[in-house]
Amino acid sequence: MKRLLCLVLSLLLLVSSAAWAEDALFTPGVYEAEAQGFGGAVKVTVVVDENKILAVVIEGPAETPTLGGVAVDTMDDAIMAAQTPHVDGVSGATVTSAAIIDAATTALESAGADIAVLDARAGKLLFTPGTYEAEAQGFGGPVKVTLTVDEDEILSIAIEGPDETPALGGVAVDTMDDAIKSARTPNVDGVSGATVTSTAIISAATEALKAAGADIAVLDANRLDTAEETVREEKTLDTGVVIVGAGGAGMAAAIMLKQAGVDFIILEKMPYVGGNTTKATGGMNAAETHYQKEQGIEDSVELFYQDTMKGGHDINDPELVRTLAENSAAAIDWLDTIGADLPKISFSGGASTNRIHAPADGSAVGNYLVDKFYAKLNEMGVSVMLNTRATELIMKDGAVAGVKAEGPDANYTINAKAVILATGGFGANEDMYTQYRPDLKGTVTTNAPGATGDGIVMAQAVGAALVDIEQIQLHPTVEQTTSMLITESVRGDGAILVNQSGHRFVNELLTRDAVSAAELEQEGCYAYILFDQHLRDNLKAIEKYVTNGLTVQADTIGELAEKLHIDPAVLTQTLADWNECVKNQNDTAFGRTTGMENDLSTPPYYAIQIAPGIHHTMGGVKINTAAQVISTEGQPIPGLFAAGEVTGGVHGGNRLGGNAVADIVIFGRIAAQSAMDYVK
Ligand code: ADP
Repeated sequence: MKRLLCLVLSLLLLVSSAAWAEDALFTPGVYEAEAQGFGGAVKVTVVVDENKILAVVIEGPAETPTLGGVAVDTMDDAIMAAQTPHVDGVSGATVTSAAIIDAATTALESAGADIAVLDARAGKLLFTPGTYEAEAQGFGGPVKVTLTVDEDEILSIAIEGPDETPALGGVAVDTMDDAIKSARTPNVDGVSGATVTSTAIISAATEALKAAGADIAVLDANRLDTAEETVREEKTLDTGVVIVGAGGAGMAAAIMLKQAGVDFIILEKMPYVGGNTTKATGGMNAAETHYQKEQGIEDSVELFYQDTMKGGHDINDPELVRTLAENSAAAIDWLDTIGADLPKISFSGGASTNRIHAPADGSAVGNYLVDKFYAKLNEMGVSVMLNTRATELIMKDGAVAGVKAEGPDANYTINAKAVILATGGFGANEDMYTQYRPDLKGTVTTNAPGATGDGIVMAQAVGAALVDIEQIQLHPTVEQTTSMLITESVRGDGAILVNQSGHRFVNELLTRDAVSAAELEQEGCYAYILFDQHLRDNLKAIEKYVTNGLTVQADTIGELAEKLHIDPAVLTQTLADWNECVKNQNDTAFGRTTGMENDLSTPPYYAIQIAPGIHHTMGGVKINTAAQVISTEGQPIPGLFAAGEVTGGVHGGNRLGGNAVADIVIFGRIAAQSAMDYVK
């Protein structure tokens, strides 16, 4: 022991004379740690300068001399030689060996060592220094990862994904670089809702790191855990109105409040705005609009009302539907004033005339409106509190008086005179939709990840009534492994559906609920959507399905059938029959009358396996025409307003395409107006 102390002291002198360098492996000094051996405690003392383990002393007085004792006597040299605690143990002395490794690891870690780096130096280096790049297919196009490494660090990483949707995949592109760099492995959490882009980034980073000579398993085993203990602050804010949710309804309400000069706060639990609104592809239904008049389209508020009631199987709340129809033209005018014009009018299922209003260039209405709304809010100086989830409504004297919320680093008590719930539906919450619809258990969803019904739960907790909560709309063409929605336009442009036996089984352009129901009656509860090259050439959306690997492709129908394990003779006959129907403009089998402009005869041929997916939750919190939330006693709950998919009653038993966007803009505006009036 005396010898040991002398050694330690002389080494310490040596160590203390050395200057400590920035990129040092250790903080020079003497460190010790204990672990439980076989007979008792095993103690390891290490002496280090900034680059080297200078001495290792192992003490295990209670270990069996011929077994654990051998480990105690020999493993010091092994650790010294390897310069890492991860050395081979002595066979037969597993417990003692593990204790030595354990104690040495702890001692070296308290010396500031990164054991992975020591391991890497001991064996091979983690990386071959240099710059490496790799690409993978994202959602909109290729995603490229370029990274520069030295022997054991990722020094820099750049992710490029110019074709990714800014509010979704773009968030992954912007944030995952830091995550990968600081974890020193490509396997980090993706951005929820941007699965395809996140996966592409992980896979490109994996390839680039492999090219740098990395063993990804080693990186994973030695990931640098960056999670630091953060102390959450408790903050109190005071405002006039709180808007919960920054989808279409919430942002429309926010623009109104800002324009009226009302003090408010808008919260969004996701790292991006837009919610399910970003998924809306068609347009917005509105009647008697100036665009319709300019384009000579005859329509009326009454007809819009009747179509919506009929489409909803007449279980809709008639007063809400009337309010929707009566305020629709004014909502289109208002959208004009904020630069979100919807001048392109066309036909959509369930409407008696051309009523669905879309952006001039025919782009998807959801992303268009979300971009315009968000830009307007930014222009007006409104910042959305992102990553901040409302958890409960605050009640005072029988009225809603604010919300509690959880932000990234603080818990908030936000006192307000009124709250607008614009939290969307619950189509992404399997527990919740199976509670109301057990038959939908296991059904995939097309919904944005934030659609978890929080607003419904919070409103119920303060006595709100629910309406039509079991009314859930399925979309019939959802690719099941990615939950990607295959747009209705594919069928509208001429695609057919066939089952595993190769037969058509339904008029593919019936309402969503009818086509979904027909699919669920087929063997395996799925079908294939089939189209040809001509259709692909004329529908931009298809490229995304092809590049994401969703399509099965073949030069002949027979070959396609073989790939799908369908009898080639049957599928060939089905196609021939269909092309004959198109030629005669007469679907003798199922009475289809639309989407029959082109037959399917231009190779190659394509198929995507699809099944129904949850698309829209039509029920929700009960509101009146002033967007006041109604209690189970039938009275407005003071201070509480709601708009959009969080509410029920507008769509009844079946939502018409174009009415979700109408709902969020019209009732978002009404909720803002009512909240303003209430606050005054
Ligand atoms: P709507 O079409 O009715 O506007 P969306 O789904 O487009 O509905 O938008 C609802 C938004 O509300 C989504 O962005 C969602 O992430 C957000 N949200 C849902 N629950 C909460 C919550 N508890 N706190 C804050 N934001 C929420």
